[in-house]
Amino acid sequence: MTEGLNAASPSMRPFTPPPRLLMGPGPITVDPRVLQAMSCQLVGQYDPAMTNCMNETMALYRRVFETENEWTFLVDGTSRAGIEAVLVSLLEPGDRVLVPIFGRFGHLLTEIAERCGAEVHTIEVAWGHVFEPDQIEEAVRRVRPKLVALVQGDTSTTMLQPLDALGAICRRYDALLYCDATASIAGNALYTDAWELDAVSVGLQKCLCGPSGSAPLTLGERAVSVIRERQHVEAGIRHPDHGEGRGQRISSNYFDLAMIMDYWGEERLNHHTEATTMLYGARECARIHLEEGPANVRERHRVSGLALAEGLEAMDLELFGDQGHRMNNVVGVHIPQGVDGDQVRHSMLSDFGIEIGTSFGPLHGRIWRIGTMGYNARRDAVIQTLAALEAVLGLAGHRLSPQAGVRTALARFGGEKL
Ligand SMILES: *Cc1c(COP(=O)(O)O)cnc(C)c1O
Repeated sequence: MTEGLNAASPSMRPFTPPPRLLMGPGPITVDPRVLQAMSCQLVGQYDPAMTNCMNETMALYRRVFETENEWTFLVDGTSRAGIEAVLVSLLEPGDRVLVPIFGRFGHLLTEIAERCGAEVHTIEVAWGHVFEPDQIEEAVRRVRPKLVALVQGDTSTTMLQPLDALGAICRRYDALLYCDATASIAGNALYTDAWELDAVSVGLQKCLCGPSGSAPLTLGERAVSVIRERQHVEAGIRHPDHGEGRGQRISSNYFDLAMIMDYWGEERLNHHTEATTMLYGARECARIHLEEGPANVRERHRVSGLALAEGLEAMDLELFGDQGHRMNNVVGVHIPQGVDGDQVRHSMLSDFGIEIGTSFGPLHGRIWRIGTMGYNARRDAVIQTLAALEAVLGLAGHRLSPQAGVRTALARFGGEKL
């Protein structure tokens, strides 16, 4: 084969993604401003322009997380990089952890905590429900964990766990509280300081309008002191006292938060090569979030989610889960009897260019999950999705009143009467 022939092979052409409207549980269609920010040229790791950009990004994310926490920064990697960094840095083998599980991502926290060698205790509620604070307090009293780890919004079930009472409970029993808020941040209220959350990690690809690949996180003083104590003991600077900070070496270099803090902090100790393009993207996600205003962003998600949910009900579809505790940004809907769920998703994608989500575990084959997140928490995106779904469901034999879904959603958005 000659080089010329190779150049003609399909894989030698640039990849051109088909136009899509991503209305699943994430990732979502990225805000074009974020894509533009990510096309900027690199600067060197210790260029003052770069370190300044890092400091600005920390300041922007303090506002996104609603916190004064100094240690608010990015871990390079998808959301689970943030989860893993927090757990591997806080937990030593034998530490007790409590994970309240209400969906798939609770199982992920359990698995990662187990890999850290922790003694993991779990409590569960049925999918489609959340915990009462009393249920969590009872388990904390019984288990006496070093750390309570839970998810705020679990896309697998669409549920949003109220967190406001949990910080006080954890402090009463001297436990740290860590939350994975990847799916919920920006679309729903999250007050790191007011709710006394010791550590929170997220990703960009849900309501923050970005791609996956950066995990913003914030650490309160109590979490920072556990991490620093461990670092000092490890370095032989201080001896462990009262059994705290036993100083077992963190098994990960990449996710060692003490080292990542030394890199983001004044010392600027070299750790990894900054994923500069993701930093640009993450900075722009925070900037556009704050420019619109957190309360406005939340309201846009609330109205979009409600318009979608009410539109689906008007199409004679049944919603999944406790609607009083649903996240604003994703709706679960039962696949109607006699309809092939995968066939409908396939037709939505290939005939209309719209992606909606399937589901996992106990909900597999039972519900679709439709997201109205970030850039796609918009009137036109919701209306297009409902109109396309009506057409596809009609062809699949599901009976519904024509235009009821679109009409209901338009009314919720305050649209003109036709
Ligand atoms: C979507 C989601 C994630 C995603 O993790 P990735 O590593 O970015 O795939 C994590 N946690 C929750 C709760 C999510 O909903």
